[in-house]
Amino acid sequence: MASALAQLTATVIACRKCPRLVRYREQVARVKKREFSDWEYWGRPLPGLGDPEAELLVLGLAPAAHGGNRTGRMFTGDSSGRWLMRALYRAGFASQPTSERRDDGLTLRNAYITAAVRCAPPDNRPTQRELAACSGYLRQELTLLRRVRVVVALGQIAFAAFLRLAQESGVALPHPRPKFRHGASYRLGTPPMPLVIIASYHPSRQNTQTGRLTEGMLDHIFQLARQHLEPDRSRA
Ligand code: SF4
Repeated sequence: MASALAQLTATVIACRKCPRLVRYREQVARVKKREFSDWEYWGRPLPGLGDPEAELLVLGLAPAAHGGNRTGRMFTGDSSGRWLMRALYRAGFASQPTSERRDDGLTLRNAYITAAVRCAPPDNRPTQRELAACSGYLRQELTLLRRVRVVVALGQIAFAAFLRLAQESGVALPHPRPKFRHGASYRLGTPPMPLVIIASYHPSRQNTQTGRLTEGMLDHIFQLARQHLEPDRSRA
């Protein structure tokens, strides 16, 4: 499975399916931000990262232009990544609370991070066409990450993208259709392999600087994830 994931990583990194995103990610990598002028930007699509045996999948929206698109790793080198990694660390899913560069030694435990779109989009807004073009990679990841039981979707777009993909893959959605609400969790599919999806506000600056999302609220999301993964321990 690890080699199949490695193969998928190579395919993702070489992808040029979305002309607008290819232009943008490469332009950002050429022009750079002044504070990162000594960086060689990654400027390509980002593969997922984490434990191939993970039971928890964290689904983001897309890499940040000067975060993942610079460092070459999702949620690395930007404010969203710092928020997410601190929360994962506090919940025991990450080996360290920081995420600044690809070679900083971070490892994820029982968790895997990926995104609905793998290239940085202008204004953090991928189009529906770009979301559809990239969804095949998430589908392949889900096939390879056989132990995933809980999905934390960061933001409404990631939440909707996952539900769409689940439905297209024949997974039964509850009625009424799950609605995005921070902290809401829904059971998808049928036993013996039900999946739980948990909706969370994205830890974007827009949400964290306005107080819409606090560290406590994000901690609550990963406590919920733990409860779903370890129901017996949570009751003890
Ligand atoms: S967003 Fe996805 S499908 Fe589009 S170019 Fe990037 S990796 Fe390829």
